[in-house]
Amino acid sequence: MPATQYQAVVDRIDILSYNVRGFRFRLIHPQPFEFKAGQFLIMHVPHNGKTMIKRAYSIASAPHESQTFELCIQHVEGGIASAYFWKLKEGDSVSLSGPHGNFVLKEPMDYDPVFMATGTGVAPLRAMIKHLIHVRFTRDIWLLFGCRYEHTLLYESEFRSIANVRPNFHYIPTVSRPKDWHGETGHIQQTFQKYIPDVSHTEIYLCGWMEVVKAICRDLESAGVSKQKLHYEEWA
Ligand SMILES: Cc1cc2nc3c(=O)[nH]c(=O)nc-3n(C[C@H](O)[C@H](O)[C@H](O)COP(=O)(O)OP(=O)(O)OC[C@H]3O[C@@H](n4cnc5c(N)ncnc54)[C@H](O)[C@@H]3O)c2cc1C
Repeated sequence: MPATQYQAVVDRIDILSYNVRGFRFRLIHPQPFEFKAGQFLIMHVPHNGKTMIKRAYSIASAPHESQTFELCIQHVEGGIASAYFWKLKEGDSVSLSGPHGNFVLKEPMDYDPVFMATGTGVAPLRAMIKHLIHVRFTRDIWLLFGCRYEHTLLYESEFRSIANVRPNFHYIPTVSRPKDWHGETGHIQQTFQKYIPDVSHTEIYLCGWMEVVKAICRDLESAGVSKQKLHYEEWA
């Protein structure tokens, strides 16, 4: 799929945590929007009234929702794009290009996918999970999702609802600095070792800030997971 320029409008803004917002955009032109779960967009951000800067954002929604797409954006203190997104209102228009990237599900899907992320790194993994649920994928799907505090777990009720109706979706949220939390604690590498003792039928997908992804890959490799099983998108 070649990258295309698109115009879209803000359809809905959700507060996902104290510093993360979910943005749903409706495409105006051209339509429809085709991409593979896991890919990202380049958003064009007006800056200083003169220039346009570009920032990459993973698509957090599934490809079958072809009239709209969602982004999950963390506010970065002093960030140019962050300031722009935090000022957007419903109905505002945006321009972008996409889809971009090769972080997509490996075919054929004759394995159990294990998704691992912290924070907004869950965005492309959510797209992959929603896609697999949509196509009624029957093998086990794991999501090991880590956050510092329980109130910063993103899409918590959505993932729990999917797990309630799809027994093959295993959602394991893990909190590193729990306050009033009865689930898994620590880091997702530890949760991985507890829940996935046998990696032979798995492929592992990771996404997020470079240092986090590198640290997780290092730990998994030390635990005996081969490099070939690790698929990741690192945000620099
Ligand atoms: C392929 C790809 C996909 C991405 N997908 C997403 C996504 O889905 N959601 C998302 O929120 N971001 C995502 N990013 C990161 C995004 O592109 C921007 O880098 C991020 O939003 C910051 O942009 P900004 O203009 O607000 O900050 P900038 O103006 O670029 O930076 C301002 C200052 O903040 C620092 N900074 C930047 N990011 C961080 C950070 N995370 N923590 C602490 N300091 C920081 C910078 O070093 C600089 O000093 C992705 C990046 C890539 C490469």
